[in-house]
Amino acid sequence: MIIILKDNAQEKQIDELVEWVSGFGVKTNLVNGVHQRIIGLIGDTTRIDVESVQAKDIVEQVKRVQEPYKNANRRFHPDDTVIEVRGRKLGGGNLNVIAGPCSVECEDQILQTAIAVKEAGATMLRGGAFKPRTSPYAFQGLGKEGINLLIKAREITGLPIVTEIMDLSDLDLFADVDIVQVGARNMQNFTLLKELGNSDKPVLLKRGLSSTLQELLMSAEYIMAGGNSKVILCERGIRTFEPKTRNTLDLSAVPLLKHHSHLPVVIDPSHATGIAKLVEPMSLAAVASGCDALEIEVHNDPKNAWSDGAQSLTPEQFKETMRKIKAMSEFCGKPLDI
Ligand code: PEP
Ligand code: MN
Repeated sequence: MIIILKDNAQEKQIDELVEWVSGFGVKTNLVNGVHQRIIGLIGDTTRIDVESVQAKDIVEQVKRVQEPYKNANRRFHPDDTVIEVRGRKLGGGNLNVIAGPCSVECEDQILQTAIAVKEAGATMLRGGAFKPRTSPYAFQGLGKEGINLLIKAREITGLPIVTEIMDLSDLDLFADVDIVQVGARNMQNFTLLKELGNSDKPVLLKRGLSSTLQELLMSAEYIMAGGNSKVILCERGIRTFEPKTRNTLDLSAVPLLKHHSHLPVVIDPSHATGIAKLVEPMSLAAVASGCDALEIEVHNDPKNAWSDGAQSLTPEQFKETMRKIKAMSEFCGKPLDI
């Protein structure tokens, strides 16, 4: 971090500032230039709040030269993080495909879909039991019963299960869930993130609708700062001015996140586009961009789905998409984790 001082800064004030920042455990280097005096901070500045420094009377400007996240930062953890889930590996050299319906609706629906995605080569099962819906009148999910049905589907297929938590008070219900998803709308629910930081559950953290990649990484940092290093980052499209798709898939997020962080990166082409036809081409592009997993919505009967039918693949479409995903993943040297 570099602190540029105002011209009228007095020695006593500078000493006070140096003493204050030193309290955060960093070393300081005061440089008296011809036109400007600056203080360089050396060491871990993640605990120093830029705004608090900026608020000091003698500070003209503050610049961060290092990212404000440490645990999620590749600089301090050069190797890819690999998260093991029931023998499968997220991150590292393999590709996982998490597939299943937007919402768990009933036993027949989740079991039929789970068996179909497993047969097509999916490596994990998704399904929402607690649904963040824009309208309070839309289907809100089966809650606890939905989780129990996912567990049943796991017993039959062997696929690890991924499902979204919306409220801290439900945490106990997730004890037997393999990966806890934090949805886009909760990416900055810091109370929830902190609590998940105290658990050892893998967390699939989705990028907020209008969040920057740095904000996503800071949210990952919240979980990791509590001691839980099993965080999986997910790009699921961001809101732009383009109305033809539900969101705009930011594929550059994959190489960028992987450059800045060691955490596994997932692409969700279903919520990113909102259109079933776009899911296959975006999945292939995502694999080519180097993602570690895809999260794809598949429904045994999309036309009658209780949520997100328009973006859900039929089992047949998914089978065909998987055939191409397999070929692409092998071409890219990141074969399916089977
Ligand atoms: C979901 O995956 O079911 C979901 C609601 O996604 P998002 O949080 O990305 O909208
Ligand atoms: Mn959905």
